[in-house]
Amino acid sequence: MTFEDFNFDASLLEGLYSMGYKTPTPIQEQAIPTILNNRDIIACAQTGTGKTAAFLLPIIQHILHAPTRHLNTLIIAPTRELVIQIDQQIDGMGYFCSVGSIAIYGGNDGITWEKQKRSLKQGVDIVCATPGRLIALLQAGDINFEHLQHLVLDEADRMLDMGFMDEIQKIIKYLPQNRQTILFSATMAPKMRLLANQITKDAEQINIAISKPAEGIVQQAYVVYDNQKEAVLKTILQNEDYQSVIIFSSTKENVKLLEKSLKQFDNSIKAFHSDLDQSEREDIMREFKARKLRILIGTDILSRGIDVDGISLVVNYDAPPDPEDYIHRIGRTARASKAGVAITFINQKDQGKFSKIEALMGKEVTKMPLAVELGAGPEYNPEANKHKFTKYPPGKKKFNQKNKKNFKPKN
Ligand code: AMP
Repeated sequence: MTFEDFNFDASLLEGLYSMGYKTPTPIQEQAIPTILNNRDIIACAQTGTGKTAAFLLPIIQHILHAPTRHLNTLIIAPTRELVIQIDQQIDGMGYFCSVGSIAIYGGNDGITWEKQKRSLKQGVDIVCATPGRLIALLQAGDINFEHLQHLVLDEADRMLDMGFMDEIQKIIKYLPQNRQTILFSATMAPKMRLLANQITKDAEQINIAISKPAEGIVQQAYVVYDNQKEAVLKTILQNEDYQSVIIFSSTKENVKLLEKSLKQFDNSIKAFHSDLDQSEREDIMREFKARKLRILIGTDILSRGIDVDGISLVVNYDAPPDPEDYIHRIGRTARASKAGVAITFINQKDQGKFSKIEALMGKEVTKMPLAVELGAGPEYNPEANKHKFTKYPPGKKKFNQKNKKNFKPKN
């Protein structure tokens, strides 16, 4: 199948070819004809599958043929990074056909806020927004969806996880009932399914390789004690083939600590977390995309929707909380069928979690041997190690004051 088979206008084809897209991905093959036929969609697809273009291309095609141009489409996404990225993709695909869009998200200054309101007044075809900021605009009467034709909820499961259910229900009350609704979600838990059924009508269900990482990702794991992680990481980073690296850690405190200790080893490194303001986050992303920065360390805030091509290595410094997060994190590499490596550090406590990830993928991840000078790591035995919290190799365990049985106060 080719993009020509969809009968897109020449100007739209030119835009997508200029972005380097040659053939449609499976989600695009399935979703584009359905959206062109005005049917609602409930799609289960992870990032990295080409899902953004799967909804943007047919929507832009609809806009090009709309009898009159009004605010036509609302796209709601969980984070400002994702909103900005969708907006950039519209710019790229719509470059030769002058489709206008605006990204609306919180956390910016009064000037940007005013600019957003002005652009809305001047008229745009597509609004991409985070739920919180959109509600504020709706309540202030600054946005009018009277002529809306298409509603897209992107990464809907993440929006529910972030507690946006009420906001989404509220936003929907402001929209015309007669519209096309397109919902993308990486997972379909019962709560998600309920919302999906509530807001769509006679939707076509599309399921793309749920919970399977993209082909082309080489997955490896190191079974380690916590105090071995840093040394293993430094050895891995010595490999110069890894030119663009993302490291995930569980908390922003850990991210900051790790940034500090790795900085002494490689200066081309920055941390990305929610304590940075929007412009700092954008600067870091820009540097990383432009390859001025080799290593980015972040929490899961980085794992969704960050669209940077050619990431050669993803490291899970801490095992992700659940299998879906694992898929999202490692999906930062090997985007759109390119190759990449994903390495996870598994301590004893995380072995149970990691075995669930393997079960979900239906695949065992190769456990790599540790360098001899690091000493032996723990045994990989998820069942037996489920409740163990040993940070140090045997014999090196620090005295634990909380362990009352062993605790003898000095007198
Ligand atoms: P997404 O799943 O929307 O986050 O897209 C993942 C990546 O694939 C992005 O970098 C897109 O620009 C890219 N992409 C999307 N569709 C195609 C395509 N048909 N051919 C090549 N790359 C694509």
